Amino acid sequence: MKCIVCGSDKTRDYWDHRLVQCTECFLVRAADSYFSCQPSGLYTETYYQGAEYADYMGERKALARNFQQRIAILRRLAPEARKLVEIGSGYGFFLEMAGRYWGVKGFEISEYAAQQAQRMSLPCIQGDYLLEDIAAEKSDIVCLWDAIEHLRTPRLVLEKVEADLRPRGVVAISTGDIGALLPRLQKARWRLIHPPTHLWYFSLTLLLRLLREVGFEPVKISYPFHYRSLRWLAGRVSRCAPRWIGDLPIPLQTGDIVEVYARKRRGTSD
Ligand SMILES: [Zn+2]
Repeated sequence: MKCIVCGSDKTRDYWDHRLVQCTECFLVRAADSYFSCQPSGLYTETYYQGAEYADYMGERKALARNFQQRIAILRRLAPEARKLVEIGSGYGFFLEMAGRYWGVKGFEISEYAAQQAQRMSLPCIQGDYLLEDIAAEKSDIVCLWDAIEHLRTPRLVLEKVEADLRPRGVVAISTGDIGALLPRLQKARWRLIHPPTHLWYFSLTLLLRLLREVGFEPVKISYPFHYRSLRWLAGRVSRCAPRWIGDLPIPLQTGDIVEVYARKRRGTSD
């Protein structure tokens, strides 16, 4: 397969057999075999309650702290915004909070997660954002929180985001930064390496290059404190962490989670 940043098809193994790196632009991604896994088989109830997340619902308070910070940033960057779209909206925790400020709509590939959101009466559409024709209802903000690394075709998705946004609209992305100090020290042991759910491993440099190529200009880059629950943290330290440990949000700074906010350059057509 061709590199989504530079178009080259030359790769070499990276750190271990699970990852490959483009020899031209150095983008890291999961090895080809992982791309054949169908999302319907990956994002089941087990993914949210036991596999990737020990307990996604238990992370709700911690996620809400992260979302509060991001909402404050978006309100500053796009004060006139009225419509917000979230790609990969999970159980709808962000949609629920963002709905206080904007008209919101979420897209979620996981049938199980979308059902959780729909049960809370949140406007979440189960399906592939790439197949949804929403260009007519132009949005002002599109968010991909910890989502871009899961997509099979991030470049196509970002091109569609650019087309679906109003002139000067904002795309907001959070993801791991494989160029940060911690992954460079830990290499194959880095906690964010888990194909086939994580397919793409951007460095900040390559994420910015891709955004620029599809028509965005980055306006804010940050490595914020991000919150996880005390229970999650205890689980990282010991597999035998007791379940009664609470969901108190704990701020962490690992330096390898980056948030990028970028504005659509094209502003003449609507
Ligand atoms: Zn490349």
